Amino acid sequence: MVGREVSPADHQHKEIREVLKRLVAVGWTLRKEGHWGRLYCTCAEGCLTIPVPGTAKNPGRTARNLARRAKLCPLPEGDPRRAPGGGVVV
Ligand SMILES: [Zn+2]
Repeated sequence: MVGREVSPADHQHKEIREVLKRLVAVGWTLRKEGHWGRLYCTCAEGCLTIPVPGTAKNPGRTARNLARRAKLCPLPEGDPRRAPGGGVVV
């Protein structure tokens, strides 16, 4: 991991702030990296990272894409946050 942690509240788009807040609340880490930031999943190994753009033409769609990609993190078997069929529920 590189970069300092950043707050979801620092994002300029409300829709993206809300999805970032939900992910950070379930354990994702948000760090300053690239154009704006990068999300790191909840696994110890960090199986998944998601780049977060600082600006978006369509913030609602970008927010939905972030949430959808976050579901690709499988989480360990038996993790209470694991959704049926895999992925974290956000
Ligand atoms: Zn993961």
